[in-house]
Amino acid sequence: MTKKILTIGEILVEFVATTQGDGFGEAQPLTGPYPSGAPAIFIDQVGRMGQACAILGRVGDDDFGHLNIDRLRDDGVDVNGIEIAYGEVTGCAFVRYRPDGSRRFVFTLPQSAAARLPATSASEALIDSCDHLHMMGTALTIPDIAALARSAVQRIKARGGSLSFDPNLRAEMLDTPGLREELAYMLAQADLFLPSGDEIFLFSDATTEQDAVDDLLGRGISDIVVKRGSQGASHYCRNGRKDVTPLSVEEIDPTGAGDCFGGAFVALWLNGAAPEIALRYANAAGAHSVTRLGPMEGAATKHQLDRLLASQEINS
Ligand code: ATP
Ligand code: MG
Repeated sequence: MTKKILTIGEILVEFVATTQGDGFGEAQPLTGPYPSGAPAIFIDQVGRMGQACAILGRVGDDDFGHLNIDRLRDDGVDVNGIEIAYGEVTGCAFVRYRPDGSRRFVFTLPQSAAARLPATSASEALIDSCDHLHMMGTALTIPDIAALARSAVQRIKARGGSLSFDPNLRAEMLDTPGLREELAYMLAQADLFLPSGDEIFLFSDATTEQDAVDDLLGRGISDIVVKRGSQGASHYCRNGRKDVTPLSVEEIDPTGAGDCFGGAFVALWLNGAAPEIALRYANAAGAHSVTRLGPMEGAATKHQLDRLLASQEINS
């Protein structure tokens, strides 16, 4: 039977400044709107892999909301769980890169349709049709989503399903009231944990990566994947560690790499792929994603990932 993956979280549009610099203090050229929101990017990548999947989220009845719904549906995502909030607006993110690669955001999520997601009988039915839940830390800053996620974890796990968790945090989010408790809950329930870099130390007092991994694997997590940007990634489980070297690509826009990486990894892992195979495709999905401007534009089909992997083997 085909397993269905669910995520719950923010669906946004993103506008990207076309010049580098420090923020938005003066008029400047932007490009967008691009479909965005970390959970939306993740689930779009899952859909492009051909895996059954759905998202629970909320958008306004505006072009930005419909742009997202159309893209997700076209890419194979079940969009029936996306509520259209009449009289509200779809969330927006404006991003500008500084010359050192750091980014500055203007972010309207807390004031947007994405800031609420009340449970309904339709959302509960959708949860009950899914076998796996993927949660991201950004979404857990929204109290409605945190509550819905807890209920979804319980329902899906009670039926023998599984949970993956990507903290996906920005430093300024960590002070959100109640967020640390929600993150700790997800970690305690997670089967697969996908931190980026130092996020592995968020939930452990260990001082080395291996000690943090040993600590977390001792708590019921079966698989940990550490994402390292242009340095590649590593997979850990009881049987040891596997590393993957980064593919050589031209980085146009790094936003969304971790989400695409996660979508590819979770889709393959859930189907029982060997960790090194899931890691190889996820590494390719992250690399493919950075070659396109716009956070969701680089989500790739399995065929595109095969082509990217084959081209690098020829060149190496
Ligand atoms: P974000 O939250 O911004 O989407 P992230 O921090 O969660 O990103 P990254 O570690 O930046 O995730 O990227 C995920 C994976 O994508 C990396 O582990 C790597 O496999 C691949 N990747 C990212 N950037 C590059 C790059 N410049 N070149 C090759 N591969 C990359
Ligand atoms: Mg991330």
